[in-house]
Amino acid sequence: MSRLLFLAAIIAIVYLLFKSYRRQLPKEDTLSGQVEDMVPCVHCGVHLPRRDGIQANGKFYCSEEHRRIHADKPE
Ligand SMILES: [Zn+2]
Repeated sequence: MSRLLFLAAIIAIVYLLFKSYRRQLPKEDTLSGQVEDMVPCVHCGVHLPRRDGIQANGKFYCSEEHRRIHADKPE
């Protein structure tokens, strides 16, 4: 019987740890969201981190292809 109580206690501890861990996740997400600078592509409007895209003439593009297309056809 004490073995069952021990098992129940372990399950409760794991459950509480998991619960507090999950509660921390959204905080980390908003924190990284503030650090990560999301910018829209001038051509297709897709938002992506600044370091993942291409910047040219003060404009931001999601890919080299969109930079080329947009350069060929200015607004
Ligand atoms: Zn694009």
